Order: sequence, then C-alpha cells, then structure tokens
Amino acid sequence: MSLLEVDRIDSFYGDSHILFGLDMRVERNEVVALLGRNGAGKTTTLNSLMGVVRPRSGTVTFDGEAIQGRPPYQIARAGMQLVPEERRIIGALTVHENLKLAALTAPEAWSFDRIYDTFPRLAERRRSGGQDLSGGEQQMLAIARALIRNPKLILLDEPFEGLAPLIVKDLVRICGELAAAGQTFVVVEQNVAAALALATRCYVINNGHNVYEGTPGELRANKEVMSRYLGV
Ligand code: ATP
Repeated sequence: MSLLEVDRIDSFYGDSHILFGLDMRVERNEVVALLGRNGAGKTTTLNSLMGVVRPRSGTVTFDGEAIQGRPPYQIARAGMQLVPEERRIIGALTVHENLKLAALTAPEAWSFDRIYDTFPRLAERRRSGGQDLSGGEQQMLAIARALIRNPKLILLDEPFEGLAPLIVKDLVRICGELAAAGQTFVVVEQNVAAALALATRCYVINNGHNVYEGTPGELRANKEVMSRYLGV
C-alpha cells in the first residue's frame, strides 16, 4: 500500500470550489512534485492533506489510516508535517529553542546533533534569534523543525521562493540527501527546474484538476504540458 493515497477529493473555501475530484499517491521514499500556475490549487492540495482544509468529499489514506476530516494536530501525530510557505519561525526564540519546541511532543524525535549535522549552518546560528535569520536560514530551520519530529512525510510549500540561486542549490542538495536517506517529500514549487531536480515523480495541477502525471524526464520532454500549464 502507498504511504499516501488521495482519492477524488473536492475542497472548497466557503462556496468557492477549488479542488475537483483530485487523485494522487505517494509511495515511501518518493519525492513528488506538485506543479502548476499561480492559483492552480497546489497549496489547497497540501492544506487538504494536512487537515487545514477539510475535503468535502473523497478520501485521504495515510499509512493505512483514513485521515480526511481529522484536525491537523492528529494528522501531524500520524506522521505528516507541513512546512508552510510563510515558514512561521518563532522570531522571539533562538534557532535551538525553535527546534526544541518542535521536538517536545514527538515520541521519536531526532537528536539535536543529527539535525545540526544535516544543517551545519543552523549549528553555527543556534543561539541566534529567529528574527535575525536570513531567508535561506529561516527555510532551513522550517525544514529542520519538521524533520526533528521524524515524520513519515514532509509537505514543502514553495521552499525555494524568494531565495538566491546559490541558496536554492544548497537546499536542493540537502533535501536530495534526506530523500536518498529515505525521507519522503511532497514539494509544491513555482521553480520548476529546482522541483524537477529533486523529484522522482510529478503531478501538474490546473484549475483544481490533476492534468498530468509522469517522471521529471517525461515532463521535461512534454513540451505541450510544459508550455500550456507551466509557462516554461
Ligand atoms: P500559488 O502559487 O498562487 O499559491 P496555488 O496553486 O498554491 O497557487 P492555491 O493557493 O491553492 O493555489 O489557490 C487556489 C485557488 O483558491 C485560487 O483561486 C485562490 O484565489 C483561492 N484561494 C486560496 N486561498 C483562499 C482562501 N483562504 N479563501 C478563498 N479562496 C482562496
């Protein structure tokens, strides 16, 4: 059985129908990219997995359990972590305190040493306040805070947005190493090149519909899908 199976979900904001019978699956150890233009429904998809938005119909099965309709804290407890676009670092706490807080209620948290080995830059900045970090450091901390809880699945919402190309390259490398070590990710990105560098499989979403599924190589070769739905 797949780690995540999404079967025909419909999601709404009030009366606005955003996702239409969306299907997707994520196997263990995969990095699945969700691509599409602005407003296509990518963030709404992540929010529907995490329980921030409750799908009105359809099912979401995570590690064998039906989780649709459950609140986010229960879905987090089941092993899913969302790294939201706005990162939500606690500015008044240090890097170390942000990590400590995230690990507090995790039954099998990573050690701080393991986190700092993965993100040496965070080790250097461990006593710095969250508000004093650069954008790239904030994004590292946001990912580290999810990782320290030892989740089965991490959802990354636009992790590379607003970051300099060298920082993006570094983050792609770190996420790639985590994936090679077995971490499963779903990544939503506008930066198609960076997302495809990381992904093992991808979906393209358009107007709340899933319009394409394939490997990064297949998608790159499909000029029609690339230009029609991704503007590349
Ligand atoms: P982006 O890259 O712009 O974040 P996206 O693919 O992630 O794009 P979503 O954020 O999922 O798109 O938005 C899908 C649609 O839902 C858009 O039309 C958007 O305007 C609408 N939408 C998003 N959030 C809300 C909300 N809180 N209330 C009402 N409509 C919303």
